Amino acid sequence: MVQVVVGANWGDEGKGKITDVLAENSDVVVRFQGGANAGHTIINDYGKFALHLLPSGVFHQNIVNLIAPGVALDIDKLLKEYESIVGRGVPAPRLLISDRAQVMMPYHVDFDKYEEERLGKGSFGSTKSGIAPFYGDKYLKIGIQVCQIYDETMLRDRLTSVVQQKNTLLEYLYRKPLLDLEQLMETLKTQAESIRPFVIDSAAFLHQALKENKRILMEGQLGALRDPDHGIYPFVTSSSPLAGFSTVGGGVPATAIRDVLSVTKAYSSCVGAGPFVTELFGEEAEELRKRGGDAGEYGATTGRPRRVGWFDAVATRYGCTAHGATECVLTNLDVLAYLDEIPVCTAYEADGETITQFPSTPTLTRCKPVYTMLPGWRTDIRGVTDLKKLPENCRCYVDFLEEQVGVPIRMVSTGPKRDEILYRK
Ligand code: GDP
Repeated sequence: MVQVVVGANWGDEGKGKITDVLAENSDVVVRFQGGANAGHTIINDYGKFALHLLPSGVFHQNIVNLIAPGVALDIDKLLKEYESIVGRGVPAPRLLISDRAQVMMPYHVDFDKYEEERLGKGSFGSTKSGIAPFYGDKYLKIGIQVCQIYDETMLRDRLTSVVQQKNTLLEYLYRKPLLDLEQLMETLKTQAESIRPFVIDSAAFLHQALKENKRILMEGQLGALRDPDHGIYPFVTSSSPLAGFSTVGGGVPATAIRDVLSVTKAYSSCVGAGPFVTELFGEEAEELRKRGGDAGEYGATTGRPRRVGWFDAVATRYGCTAHGATECVLTNLDVLAYLDEIPVCTAYEADGETITQFPSTPTLTRCKPVYTMLPGWRTDIRGVTDLKKLPENCRCYVDFLEEQVGVPIRMVSTGPKRDEILYRK
């Protein structure tokens, strides 16, 4: 049985916490796309953690955590993260790495920086973790799979050609130091040894797990609007964060998916560039940013202040539809307790027309929000686990969002901690 946890919006919806909660009842947690560029914040009995590459099941000793083929595997960062959580008292997690995952190379990170520098004002606001150059190389078929770092002849052969291509760009386009083949070979040799105990044939592993009726949780990174095909292109990420892609990047049959949980915040937040219709500025933004999340809305990986805005039902409905969500999970509801009235964006307006379908990027950049005002509840609801204990206006707010999004909201998160959650139905 496969469950998928994905983001309905721009990322940072609180997927980490929800995965951590659901992991308790899972046997395997799988990361199926993305890399060390995003962060999941998890607060549990061991403390507060920002996970970037490790699957969110690492705090449960009964769970196998798998890095699947679709992930951009930064070996050094993964091991550092592994050591850092063990160093803080978490028992050594059960970690597996697919032999078909591809390796993030040091030059991918360099190229990410160089290209953002070259683009200057037109840059994408990349986290400079190497993601775009990594996936670019993957689809150019010049990436390096984990299985290939154990075959010296093949690796040398492939890297010789890569180095020639990259060095031409480094010399003539970026004017930066050139790559050295031998140094790269050496780095990869060390990295290969460091992950050897974790490497497996993940397809065989997952197919066997399915046969044994194991519960598999697929964990997405970022959100639907960052999908390269269906998102706000070009302000997207380079691998698909959609639930459907979990079958591809993860490696289970499409028919194996049972539940798709699409996570959204009770307001909006967004890191990085691109159109964001309900964005707030000035004092209003600062107030929401300060109160949002567990310690303000600042990126878990970059520390960058997140852009914030009101709940966008047009974007969330679109995100949930793109995922094929069977349910929507609402997080950060407690954050809105300070407001007398809460705007919810129920439509956009552009070129004199009212739009209720999330449009493609050129139209989106001209869209203005149309708000419905809902009464606030001005009561602290942090940690409430019983629906009946929510103030009526708060329950009405959730009902309204559910109606707007068109997908049942079953889980509502009322605080960043594992047990700060309530179930509606
Ligand atoms: P992810 O990448 O989707 O896992 O999201 P992040 O971890 O980057 O951002 C979500 C933020 O919201 C983090 O600071 C979480 O600790 C926090 N968070 C998650 N759920 C809740 C909640 O219900 N209430 C509050 N106040 N914070 C929450």
